[in-house]
Amino acid sequence: MDLISVIVPCYNEEESIPLFCEEMHKVIKKVKVNWEIIFINDGSTDNTLEVLKKLASKYKRVKYFSFTRNFGKEAAIMAGIEKAKGNYIGLMDVDLQDPPQFLEDMYYILKHEDYDCVRTRRATRKGEALFRSIFSKAFYKLINKICNVKIVDGARDYCLMKRSVASSIMDFKEVNRFFKGIVSYTGYKTKWLEFENVERAAGETKWSLWQLFKYAMEAIFSFSVFPLILATIMGIICFILSLLFIVIIFIKTIIFSDPVSGWSSLACIILFCSGVQLFSLGIIGEYLAKTYYETKKRPLYIIRESSEEK
Ligand code: UDP
Ligand code: MG
Repeated sequence: MDLISVIVPCYNEEESIPLFCEEMHKVIKKVKVNWEIIFINDGSTDNTLEVLKKLASKYKRVKYFSFTRNFGKEAAIMAGIEKAKGNYIGLMDVDLQDPPQFLEDMYYILKHEDYDCVRTRRATRKGEALFRSIFSKAFYKLINKICNVKIVDGARDYCLMKRSVASSIMDFKEVNRFFKGIVSYTGYKTKWLEFENVERAAGETKWSLWQLFKYAMEAIFSFSVFPLILATIMGIICFILSLLFIVIIFIKTIIFSDPVSGWSSLACIILFCSGVQLFSLGIIGEYLAKTYYETKKRPLYIIRESSEEK
């Protein structure tokens, strides 16, 4: 019989977990295969771990792995994939923003159609804060223009994939991870399902705007060298402008005997040029920092305890 592993990263989700289990239970009753639900406790500071321990002692199919501290959702996803034993591997949020009932369709699509992976996207951004929505839309437009992988607008991490896809994902050893990009990069045949935006069942989102911005930058720097090209383009533009200025000043001085006066124009030019230089240096620094972390090869996560040890 098939085994479906569902990976569920949790960070301070004591309120959402029981609601999630209720919904998940309905799906498990309907789809007659073996299931394992792998909760990854990403260094929660509330009672998430206690809730998970209780669940694991009650239900055999519930497993948990608990990190020593918060390593982030990307690390939790990777941990889940590495621990999953199923021939189908799913990933979903615990807050019910990824409706579990879709798992049934996803499973039958993989089982009966010629697809390796079923992924999901939000059809609309209803219910999302306006600024967040604008920021997200702009991000997807930009990333699809400059990256060598296609990142679908509104794509969620929620997916079900065959073992082969998960194995390929495990081959990506990078520490700066962007799951949506990695799955697209693998190039497996993917079916997309759409659903309306659902509000969180309980608790609060863990993503501040600043974190979202950092996540967006992570995605861009992980899958594109366009920022470096941008630095080069800015350098070329400055060079051409400076040549033009030299010609203008030369003509003014030689032909019209009118030397340029005033320090303010000079100050502006110096400020502009040093701004461009610092900006470019920042971009190079960003790539250097990424390389620095990659070469260290630090573990993505550290597990303090798990249901497997008992
Ligand atoms: N999450 C996590 N580690 C983190 C932040 C979030 O494991 O550092 C989990 C969280 O518990 C949830 C999922 O990732 O199951 C998505 O988080 P959230 O709902 O806060 O994000 P949003 O849906 O607002 O994008
Ligand atoms: Mg959420």
